[in-house]
Amino acid sequence: MTKETLVIIGSGPAGWTAALYAARARLQPLVFEGEPMGTTLPGGQLMITTEVENYPGFPEGITGPELMEKMREQALRFGARVITENVTEVDLRRRPFRVQPSYSEAVEADALVIATGANAKWLGVPNEERLALAGGGVSACAVCDAALPVFRDQVLAVVGGGDTAMEEALYASKFASQVLLIHRRDRFRASPIMAERVLSHPKIRVLWNRKVVEVLGAAQIEGLRLEDTVSGERSDLTVGGMFVAIGHQPNTAFLHGQIELTPGGYIRLREPHRMATHVEGVFAAGDVADDYYRQAVTAAGSGCMAALEAERWLSHTA
Ligand code: NAP
Repeated sequence: MTKETLVIIGSGPAGWTAALYAARARLQPLVFEGEPMGTTLPGGQLMITTEVENYPGFPEGITGPELMEKMREQALRFGARVITENVTEVDLRRRPFRVQPSYSEAVEADALVIATGANAKWLGVPNEERLALAGGGVSACAVCDAALPVFRDQVLAVVGGGDTAMEEALYASKFASQVLLIHRRDRFRASPIMAERVLSHPKIRVLWNRKVVEVLGAAQIEGLRLEDTVSGERSDLTVGGMFVAIGHQPNTAFLHGQIELTPGGYIRLREPHRMATHVEGVFAAGDVADDYYRQAVTAAGSGCMAALEAERWLSHTA
């Protein structure tokens, strides 16, 4: 089994920034960047984002895949190594830790940075995934995408009834002509204060007891087929965009309970403003440990923090 100093699992902004810092610190990090599976791609959530206008340093904007390719290139330039496989299992009960990828041989690691992200949940209805991947007006992040020209001055649908959906609807209302918030029940799950803001907003209308059964449109979304969850009646609705806001799923299954998680399934950090987990030598960065900000720039920042902490930890324990 090969022995590595630092293994980084994940290849979004957090993973590549951790790799960049670790490589420049001469730790020769090994990155498991994942493998393509449906809407999950090496590079993470930005791979299914078209224009990124809020990552500093790119005044003209940059596409998500292009930004990730640049981050990858930058880390590799300083000596990070990469394996295009998922990690299926880790053993954190022994040191060095053991990391098992999908196909190749397991490796040992003195320290680990976990940056496997969180995937937005999708409805799983026809045309949703295809239009999301093609930049056809379907997205899982209004804060990332609602300001793009394709969504401006349109009637936009937001699906969900939790705080994320409230936040997305309020954000989308800055750019949309109208926001239709589609929720499958007759009550929100969101906190009262967020719900109140939505309910009193002049541009937001709530469609209660409705679920989306199909996204309509060829290259661009044209509408939604809805079903009334009480009567079962179906109807079509014309919209120029849809934001799915039904929650996120942090990618922690491969940890098999060896790291303390929050009730929502995110990795619990040992103390505020530090990336150390409850397992000595294991650090977390990006959305896998963040259910609050979920931005590329905050993920990148936490990747830097995790690498610096890992470097310091390694120099004290070596
Ligand atoms: P959430 O609270 O789990 O809400 C998910 C919503 O999506 C629920 O209303 C649920 O409907 C709906 N939903 C789930 N699956 C669906 C499906 N297949 N089809 C249609 N609707 C579906 O998730 P969240 O809103 O992402 O919030 C997660 C956590 O982060 C919460 O603790 C929240 O308070 C927190 N958060 C806080 C803020 C803030 O304070 N600013 C912002 C965002 C998130 P049902 O209600 O019928 O189950």
